[in-house]
Amino acid sequence: MLIVGNWKAYVESRAKAKALCVSAKRLASKGDHEIVIAPAVPHIGFIAPAKPDTKEALKFGAQDVSITVGGAETGEVTAGLLRDLGVSYVIVGHSERRARGESDEIVTEKARHALAHGMTPIICIGEVDRDPEAHYLKHVRAQLSAVMSSLSTKERLSVVIAYEPIWAIGKSELEAITPDDLGEMILYIRKVLTDFMPGRANQKVRILYGGSVDSSNVRSLAVGTGIDGFLVGRASTDVAGFAALVKAVS
Ligand code: PEP
Repeated sequence: MLIVGNWKAYVESRAKAKALCVSAKRLASKGDHEIVIAPAVPHIGFIAPAKPDTKEALKFGAQDVSITVGGAETGEVTAGLLRDLGVSYVIVGHSERRARGESDEIVTEKARHALAHGMTPIICIGEVDRDPEAHYLKHVRAQLSAVMSSLSTKERLSVVIAYEPIWAIGKSELEAITPDDLGEMILYIRKVLTDFMPGRANQKVRILYGGSVDSSNVRSLAVGTGIDGFLVGRASTDVAGFAALVKAVS
């Protein structure tokens, strides 16, 4: 499984970043799962190896990337800069960024920048709420289609999709999605992907779930739902909690 820890802005001290990184390295070295940590950018510079060592099992992710390509762009963190820091994955279109006005077009552009610099975009999609008429399915289809329709066939095969229903983010494990509902949504997302990558090709695209995952619910969400991994927020910022989560999936 692919397990990505999105530290958001929860981690503000270098000592904590270091401790989380050391523990994540240990988890990654076991080789049971692909482990990615996505610290804030200043911490990536502090804890990622200066020369990315390809033998290092732990991968680094960024929580966002600039839509610009560099130059006179005050405050922007470009894909080139992230790549140089040793970043392999970039989260794009997280609901917390979309809430600040990020459109599907911007998300697509960011995914392209990541791909152009040899990094894998983790494209976040997900509905705000569930309604009895199931309009949320149309919303998920629209978000996914907007990005996929703008990418080339080669680019489509190189992305990761993170299904993150907004109603389930940052809550307790009791408010996460149920395994049955997750299984249905993964099938639906696969069906939409088939429109862009017919046949078995779309199986190359990994689908993650994110939203109040922790060590107590991760196993039930992992088994029988068709999921390829998890995007974990809060629970990834506690050394013992993240280790327990990874162990629970194993
Ligand atoms: C997220 O925001 O990507 C996320 C999954 O957060 P949490 O695990 O805290 O719900």
